[in-house]
Amino acid sequence: MQSFIYNALPSRVIFGSGTISKLKAEIERAGCRRALLISTPEQAEALAKIADSIGALAAGTFTQAAMHTPTDVTERALSKVQECGADCTVSFGGGSSTGLGKAIALRTDLTQIAVPTTYAGSEVTPIIGETKDGVKVTQRTLKVLPEIVIYDVDFTLSLPQRLTVTSATNAIAHAVEALYAEDRNPVISMMAEQAIGALGRALPAIVSDPHDRGARAEALYGAWLCGVCLGSVGMALHHKLCHVIGGTFDLPHADTHTVILPYAMAYNAKAAPQADAAVARTLGGNDGTSALVALATRLGSPKSLQSLGMPESGIDRAADLAVQNPYWNPRPIERNAIRKLIAAAWAGDPPASLF
Ligand code: NAD
Repeated sequence: MQSFIYNALPSRVIFGSGTISKLKAEIERAGCRRALLISTPEQAEALAKIADSIGALAAGTFTQAAMHTPTDVTERALSKVQECGADCTVSFGGGSSTGLGKAIALRTDLTQIAVPTTYAGSEVTPIIGETKDGVKVTQRTLKVLPEIVIYDVDFTLSLPQRLTVTSATNAIAHAVEALYAEDRNPVISMMAEQAIGALGRALPAIVSDPHDRGARAEALYGAWLCGVCLGSVGMALHHKLCHVIGGTFDLPHADTHTVILPYAMAYNAKAAPQADAAVARTLGGNDGTSALVALATRLGSPKSLQSLGMPESGIDRAADLAVQNPYWNPRPIERNAIRKLIAAAWAGDPPASLF
């Protein structure tokens, strides 16, 4: 066995159905008495019900969380923290709400309780990306890792089908890249395989019945493990491409991951045969790329960057940006090959025969 370094991330995870009923006890257990509850505007109604359920422990609500954690929103949330004398935050929702809880913790060290309702995985990572004047800056620090995560499967029942599929594929991408990460290790690789398998089984069942609680539970479990993969080892070409393309052309985060993943797998397959084989084994298929394409087809996933609104004229710019300050990747980053990848992903051409 090769030598490795494994860093465990400290978080308390409560998983199940109806687990939101434990929120009050968890706030008290953490020694807190005044929680600021956070969500996006779309989830304000559900947040109000949660606030009601914890009575006097709810010191206030802030329902303006937004994608990519804009710093002006964080400033407004910090004023609310001060105004209501909060000693902890409860972020309810997807990566946007979790991101705001993290941004507050970065500046105040307040205890964070995350109640995730998508499969993004941010709740178990020490990573924060913040946007100021249109520029997104990402950093890793344990200061932003939520202390407590309450996974309540019931909240995921309302996740619309497209977001279910794209958010879960975003999660699978964390696990796929963990399998070929420079600092991969056997514990995280084991989680990655488990996670891809769980999501691969659960997603087709959810697409045929979005209220299938068993499948929803398996998907959320898989998403948790994927988040741990993202938080524990370095990401590579796939995440770099999504960061550059999504950011430059303002494309939806999870959709961009969904389109790019089979192309990144195809690019890296020969350089990372063990990862390719693991993806094929867990999803069922001859190789990782065709297994991912088959899953995407079964789920009705978006398949081209063109369909997400990226202009064709942006392909060269995207290729230029993708090769600048590249992340470590199992296969060297070559501009011509990257341009070919982006052009194929733009058009939605089959990735299998690309490389
Ligand atoms: P999101 O949080 O922006 O949510 C998308 C929309 O879906 C919002 O309107 C939200 O209110 C709604 N929604 C969420 N859960 C719902 C539910 N169960 N039912 C109905 N509607 C629901 O989307 P996301 O993909 O979860 O997060 C994307 C953001 O998270 C990006 O800013 C991304 O950069 C960040 N992210 C960060 C990390 C990290 O480790 N730092 C990891 C993954 C994603």
